[in-house]
Amino acid sequence: MDEKSLAGVNRKFNARKQERDALLSARQEEVYRAVPRIREIDNALFGGGMRMLSAVWDGTGTPEEIAEQYAREAARYAAEKKMLLREAGFGTDYLDIPYTCPHCKDTGMRDSGLCSCYLTLLSEALTEESGMGKLLRKQTFDAFDIRLYADTPIEGQTLTPRKNMESILRICRAFAADFENHADNLLLYGNPGLGKTFLSSAIANELLSRGISVLYQSAGQIADLLSDARFSRGDGEARSVLKSQLLKVDLLIIDDLGTEFINSMTDADMFYVVNSRLLAEKSTIISTNLALPDIGRVYSDRMLSRILGHYTKLHIYGADIRNIRGM
Ligand SMILES: [Zn+2]
Repeated sequence: MDEKSLAGVNRKFNARKQERDALLSARQEEVYRAVPRIREIDNALFGGGMRMLSAVWDGTGTPEEIAEQYAREAARYAAEKKMLLREAGFGTDYLDIPYTCPHCKDTGMRDSGLCSCYLTLLSEALTEESGMGKLLRKQTFDAFDIRLYADTPIEGQTLTPRKNMESILRICRAFAADFENHADNLLLYGNPGLGKTFLSSAIANELLSRGISVLYQSAGQIADLLSDARFSRGDGEARSVLKSQLLKVDLLIIDDLGTEFINSMTDADMFYVVNSRLLAEKSTIISTNLALPDIGRVYSDRMLSRILGHYTKLHIYGADIRNIRGM
């Protein structure tokens, strides 16, 4: 199970960087063949950098003067290069480094810790399904179809399913838009097939596009991760990195709470995650098919009281929309 080890993840990560570098050098050769002047410019830039270093070394000017002169020269060359690229029919960004992840520039690290692109690789390696699978990546606010919710009243509810969903959608959009300034927690609850996973993926996708770290795991995956860590099963290192991220990521999405096998350990583990994140003022989204009172029955009352006290509770109701279109 080599690909599941941390070394396996790092290998995959480095392979991505090598692919990127190979792509860039192939582009460079292509451009050099088409526009030889660009090779001269690159050589001149490299030579200029070396001259700058030796000028600083020889003390022919203050380092600031020398650096400023070099920057002016480099800017002139860069402008010429862009013009030549455009004239030759390449995009002006054709020779920019094609990062797989522009947020961390493929380093896997950001100021706040591990980047989501690395977390995704890690959770993909540790779980059969990915943390943020391909399907989930397509689930965006723009793809959300409110017409799937009936606009006719249903028994026991004041709002029609559609009116209710419109207001939930507004709250979810605001949650994503205002994430950096206002850490909130969401509980999405209601029967299966009403778009709970879709909504949390839409939030995740929007935050990921802004470079915010998000970890998406089912409650079952989290329970396995924590119990494996306790009994040191599997690859200890990779699991402990992912486990520490449960507490550190900017947003943790716990999908399908209540479907995992629950014993007193699971309850304690899940409470530990939920409570620690509250104390650290880190946002969490929980989705569940359980009704509110059942959360207290399946888990403990202290879990229910944390959720009641600190989560915005969004109740989704209506007919199963998966039958209408695969949501
Ligand atoms: Zn990244």
